[in-house]
Amino acid sequence: SYRGALLEYIQHPDRFPASQVLRTTPNTVLIRDAFPKATVHLLLLPRSPAHYEQHPHEALSDPAFLATIRAEAETAARLAAAELARQLSPFSASSKARNDALATGTVPYDDLPAGRDYLPEIRIGVHAHPSMAHLHVHILSRDMHSDRLKHRKHYNSFNTPFFVPLADYPLAEDDERRDSAFQNANLGRDLVCWACGKGFGNKFAELKRHLDDEFELWKKR
Ligand code: 5GP
Ligand code: ZN
Repeated sequence: SYRGALLEYIQHPDRFPASQVLRTTPNTVLIRDAFPKATVHLLLLPRSPAHYEQHPHEALSDPAFLATIRAEAETAARLAAAELARQLSPFSASSKARNDALATGTVPYDDLPAGRDYLPEIRIGVHAHPSMAHLHVHILSRDMHSDRLKHRKHYNSFNTPFFVPLADYPLAEDDERRDSAFQNANLGRDLVCWACGKGFGNKFAELKRHLDDEFELWKKR
């Protein structure tokens, strides 16, 4: 079933190409999201059946499990940051492009800040109400610049309290992010740019165009 599609990666990571499964440990499998909502979008899948069948709020209330997942998520975030640096580099296409640029004196030094630390641009968290059945932690760049980002719920699921940072676990019993009505309201909220805070109401197409502009600025920040 669609809802169960992540189980195959957990049980048989070896059946997928290395381009889709980036890292396998006894406790976790790190994969690429098949419908990435940002420039880099990975999923960390815990392999323990006792945990992956639980709701994230439940599973991540186990301190030992949480510590394991946190450590793996940090490794995954470093990997994502390195990939982001490669993707944003004007030379990511090939070293030929770099050599050509050097030879012709057209090196776009200004395009990528030297020595930029990309780790702060990577976010780690879970959706309050996941659509996929098996526990997965999202590890993604903040840009939301992707053809796969197609509607308001997609955007709001990563840019409202519907996205719960892994760092916030375990959640308190009275944390409002446990509340279904609150979370449904979050998905339907007015759109707000992640970068500048500008409001777009329900005008998703306008937000998308704005995100293109923000992407160009963010690359050079
Ligand atoms: P959720 O909303 O459940 O937190 O997010 C599930 C994520 O899984 C989505 O970002 C979606 O794009 C991704 N996804 C859905 N089906 C597949 C699949 O078959 N393979 C991979 N790699 N990702 C998937
Ligand atoms: Zn903006």
